[in-house]
Amino acid sequence: MDYQHSVIMDVGKCKGCTHCLNRCPTEAIRIRDGHAVINANRCIDCGECIRMCPHNAKKASFDKLASLPEGKYKIALPAPTLFGQFENLDDPDYLVEGLLKLGFDDVYEVACAAELVTEYTRRYLKQRGISLPVISSACPVVVRLVKLRFPTLSENLLPILPPVEIAGMLAKEKAKKEHPELKDEDIFTVFISPCPAKVSYVKNNLSGEKSNVDMVVSVSDVYFELLGVMRKTDLPNASSKTGMVGLSWASSGGEASSLLNDRYLAADGIENVIRVLEDIEIESHPNLTFVELNACAGGCVGGVMTVENPYICRVRLRNIKRYLPVSLNHPPQDDPERGVPDRYTMTEPEEYGHVSRYDESRKEAIRMMKDVNAVFATLPELDCGSCGSPTCRAFAEDVVRGTANYEDCIAVMRDKLREMEKGTKQ
Ligand code: SF4
Ligand code: SF4
Repeated sequence: MDYQHSVIMDVGKCKGCTHCLNRCPTEAIRIRDGHAVINANRCIDCGECIRMCPHNAKKASFDKLASLPEGKYKIALPAPTLFGQFENLDDPDYLVEGLLKLGFDDVYEVACAAELVTEYTRRYLKQRGISLPVISSACPVVVRLVKLRFPTLSENLLPILPPVEIAGMLAKEKAKKEHPELKDEDIFTVFISPCPAKVSYVKNNLSGEKSNVDMVVSVSDVYFELLGVMRKTDLPNASSKTGMVGLSWASSGGEASSLLNDRYLAADGIENVIRVLEDIEIESHPNLTFVELNACAGGCVGGVMTVENPYICRVRLRNIKRYLPVSLNHPPQDDPERGVPDRYTMTEPEEYGHVSRYDESRKEAIRMMKDVNAVFATLPELDCGSCGSPTCRAFAEDVVRGTANYEDCIAVMRDKLREMEKGTKQ
């Protein structure tokens, strides 16, 4: 099955200005026929191009809240980031109550599942024979980036399902327990997401099996709906079931710092993430046990489907957390396994090809590499982007792959014109 992306182009709005071309971290964009084109095999749904485009030609694709199905038992799965969007929200109960007022039958906070993942990660880190440092698998952009660009680090990825998937699973189990009359198909989970990468996670079943999340809507859509129903004057009946640890996952460092292990590193922003992965690949951090990486600046609070400035959101979450217990969600006391239960473990979802590989055949790949080097040697190394490729190196690869014409390089064309000019003068 082809990978389904959640970052999409509106060709009519694109001016071919190259802003996105220069910022895409995986060189997935080319300008062809005057507009940007995304290479689906390379795109990691990081949303950088959405942030950069001055003409709003790139956007995230997600479900609309208005399209919630009728007649189902609907459960909201709010991301921890949603709690930091509101000015003056000091009690998360108001938000949980607000979601019920919007028509959801229940709310299962993703932060609750995050607290479980924290405890299971502590257990996993104690196991012998694991590849260190363990890299968090909570950010789907990072997981796809590792698989596409750093495949040797795949075995370092934490093999525990991300909190949203566990939240979907536990929410459905809770609904069935409380309402035994419900059939599986009657229960419908809706994740309220800060970023398009989590939409792709669900669309592509990246948990390895069919996702327990049925629909993904944006934090920004739900934010505006909630503004209309949340009232400070009404004392909430519903109550939030998360502690500080769960809400901490919204910002960079929150997941790692809860592990009670000092040998961790947390980095955010796609460029920093790539730098850290490059360092790990050459083993320049031998003493690290855990690495938390978030593609968005500041962590999930910086996702492109949020409303609030990520740094303000982080401060607001800090204020809410001040009044919460440390953690409210723990593995069962009588859990005999003392490890990570199989049902929370990720199975390998799909095979990825390494993006930098020229061809499956080694012989053909070597031939192509030689050709790329030969073309590259004739280019001016200006990386100006005028040819529609992000760098001269990428342009040389495109020429050898047959997706660009050598004459598209303005320096090549200029030299050619000069030669012709000389020829006519002689
Ligand atoms: S930033 Fe990219 S998508 Fe936006 S107008 Fe420029 S070339 Fe087109
Ligand atoms: S979402 Fe990220 S990887 Fe995909 S085209 Fe945009 S910038 Fe490139």
